[in-house]
Amino acid sequence: MTDGTAPTFRSDVTVELVRSAATDTDVLWAARVSTAGEQSIEAVGQDPARSEGLINYLMRDRHGTPFEHNSMTFLISAPIFVFREFHRHRSGWSYNEESGRYRELQPVFYVPDAGRKLVQQGRPGRYEFVEGTPEQHRVTTAAMEESYRASYRAYQEMLDAGVAREVARAVLPVGLFSSMYATCNARSLMHFLSLRTKRDNATVPSFPQREIEMVAERMEAKWAELMPLTHAAFEKHGRVAP
Ligand SMILES: Cc1cc2nc3c(=O)[nH]c(=O)nc-3n(C[C@H](O)[C@H](O)[C@H](O)COP(=O)(O)OP(=O)(O)OC[C@H]3O[C@@H](n4cnc5c(N)ncnc54)[C@H](O)[C@@H]3O)c2cc1C
Repeated sequence: MTDGTAPTFRSDVTVELVRSAATDTDVLWAARVSTAGEQSIEAVGQDPARSEGLINYLMRDRHGTPFEHNSMTFLISAPIFVFREFHRHRSGWSYNEESGRYRELQPVFYVPDAGRKLVQQGRPGRYEFVEGTPEQHRVTTAAMEESYRASYRAYQEMLDAGVAREVARAVLPVGLFSSMYATCNARSLMHFLSLRTKRDNATVPSFPQREIEMVAERMEAKWAELMPLTHAAFEKHGRVAP
């Protein structure tokens, strides 16, 4: 029997940094090995201005490989439609997501909050989003919650009738929350951030969906704490992944 849990609705996403081995020093020793050989680790930290300059130079001239010698693992909780976009990022990423075959999916669904711009204007690839009216927010919330409740009821009906989870899950919508581990390095993260955040200082503008941008922003904040020089250089050079 299913546990009959009532659906709950969320407007946020969560990102936890589970594990990391990622510092600016990792970039410096990888870059310096080409000139200093095995001495490079000792040389790091001896001259902070020179270290900052080297990271800026690598970023500006897009010498990307020194930014790969580090690792960050994030635990992300977000709607399935965000993960569909996320999993398109193939290079330098590893993913493991909770299974709808092996466990009963919990009824947690995404509903945009009052601050989510609801109305799309402009041409494909260059959309602008503007505020929805209170009525548009009311309709959106009511329609989503009603639809989510109906689909989760159908899911439970099938489970109660003995139907396999992998079959019954077909009725669940992409607004259902899922969770995954995502492991990346600074270079692959920068590529992701360049595409999944919208920033005025970006050399190449991007127009991501707001919900994946919410995930990207939380990841970027955690990464910036780990690798402040690298993050600052990324910002300075137009948020282009090296
Ligand atoms: C705003 C926005 C709108 C989008 N809209 C759509 C859409 O309408 N439909 C859709 O299908 N997708 C869409 N996407 C997804 C997009 O096409 C990419 O799949 C996604 O952004 C991942 O980018 P990527 O391939 O550069 O990343 P990764 O897969 O991480 O690859 C990183 C880099 O590695 C290199 N690389 C990786 N694989 C290959 C390969 N096979 N051959 C050659 N080089 C490779 C490339 O240089 C690539 O840039 C959209 C993405 C964004 C940001």
